[in-house]
Amino acid sequence: MRYPQTFIDDLKRQADIVRVVQDYVTLKKKGANWMACCPFHKEKTPSFSVSPAKEIFYCFGCHKGGSVFNFVMEIERVSFPEAIRLVAEKTGVPVPKLDDDSRFEARRSEIDDVIQLNKWALEWWEQQLEQGGAEARAAREYLDHREITDETRKTFRLGFAPDSWDALSSHLRQKGASQEQIDRSGLVARKEETGRTYDRFRGRLIFPVLDIQGKPIAFGGRTLKNEDAKYINSPETAAYVKGRNLFGLNLTRDEIRRQGYAILVEGFLDLIVPYQFGIRNVVASLGTALTPEQVKLLGRFARKVVVNYDGDRAGVQAAKKAIEILLTEDLEVKVLVLPDNADPDEFIRKLGASEYQRQRGEAQTHIQFVIDQAVRDRKLTNPAQKEAAIEEVLPFIRAVRSRIQKREYFDIAMDSLRIGDVSLRRELWQSLRSAETGRPPVTREPSGRSQATPAEQRLLSVLFADEGLRREVLPLLETADYEDLPTAAIFRALKELEHQGRAVDFESLSEKTEGDAL
Ligand SMILES: [Zn+2]
Repeated sequence: MRYPQTFIDDLKRQADIVRVVQDYVTLKKKGANWMACCPFHKEKTPSFSVSPAKEIFYCFGCHKGGSVFNFVMEIERVSFPEAIRLVAEKTGVPVPKLDDDSRFEARRSEIDDVIQLNKWALEWWEQQLEQGGAEARAAREYLDHREITDETRKTFRLGFAPDSWDALSSHLRQKGASQEQIDRSGLVARKEETGRTYDRFRGRLIFPVLDIQGKPIAFGGRTLKNEDAKYINSPETAAYVKGRNLFGLNLTRDEIRRQGYAILVEGFLDLIVPYQFGIRNVVASLGTALTPEQVKLLGRFARKVVVNYDGDRAGVQAAKKAIEILLTEDLEVKVLVLPDNADPDEFIRKLGASEYQRQRGEAQTHIQFVIDQAVRDRKLTNPAQKEAAIEEVLPFIRAVRSRIQKREYFDIAMDSLRIGDVSLRRELWQSLRSAETGRPPVTREPSGRSQATPAEQRLLSVLFADEGLRREVLPLLETADYEDLPTAAIFRALKELEHQGRAVDFESLSEKTEGDAL
């Protein structure tokens, strides 16, 4: 029983070892590496290090080290295939069935083909922008006008696609691509009537979408004339599924992790311009509505997000959708609306990065933003309009995962919407709570016993009370020691909290044992 090697290699590249280790150990950045006290041996000064560049961990004290898989094997005490499954789960990568090697290999080679053609296309487009003649000048002028420097242009690998039906296709053929590979690359489109293909991107400034390893997986092209379609984008291909990637993350991930939060913007330039001005903890959701996959990806680097979309009606609608998804994935959300509905790109060019940061520091909580939007064109003295405002706000409270925060936001909303009536408040609160029980409770009673024995109870009560003892005892407990006990959920939760270095109290335990009977 084994996974295809190509899958393992890919997963290793995609899994962020820092993020995986951080699930268990609190890491601190030190130069290019991350350090912590070793989880595998006792120590007071950190000698355990993780290198994101080398994708390895190593302890200078006990000399344990290896890949992200070795780490998970060691800390979870599981087999290699099981560690792979766990890492895939944490990374949000679907695991292939153990037996479909050949289908997986075929798909893999299709993905590699698309990326190879994308690389050739991008290198050629970059060259066109840099050295192209009169035609490319319009693209360079556009960038000059936006104050994009040469350095920034190179960092983001911007390019120019000449206005030709087949210049790129013939370049790709020259490089050795077959017509079939070109057809499947998404770089060409097909004329319905004749069945002939032609270059998809023509006369456009090219923004490549690079995956987290910096490989080009798709492109956006901005018109330089006055065409109806300001931007066109790559279709889905073997290498690109819409809504799975965030623009810029390959460049901004470390800064996002360092800052502990990300600024979420809409368009290419809303990221590129702040980046050039030194604001580098930004990602762009890229036109389409933010998806849960994108939020999961972002959540690997920070748990806090400042949404900075356009202030116009469409931008506000998009921001509200984004907020709901971010909350559902348990991220903390603030919202920044810049004065005069400016987008980040024009705001920063006009007023500079420090003024932007000042505005960002005053970003609203998500609930305040949602309430403001709900009451904006409504009169709260009108019962029907008041009801509509309440209906608009409630989903954003319902989506909050933490019960304490949920209650807090609820109270803020009730006060702002001037709902003083106690029984109405209670009714609304109940309606939010009842939505939570949509998930069937998990019961784990494999032994058929539902009462904890006196010994278990005693052990648990000393573990609750004594932090030092927890640190001694919990690492010695193996899953097999407690998995059949009725109190297994509590042991599991204690071990997890200990791993994460979090306080053990009623709130954190309830969160960890959610769904299990406490
Ligand atoms: Zn060690």
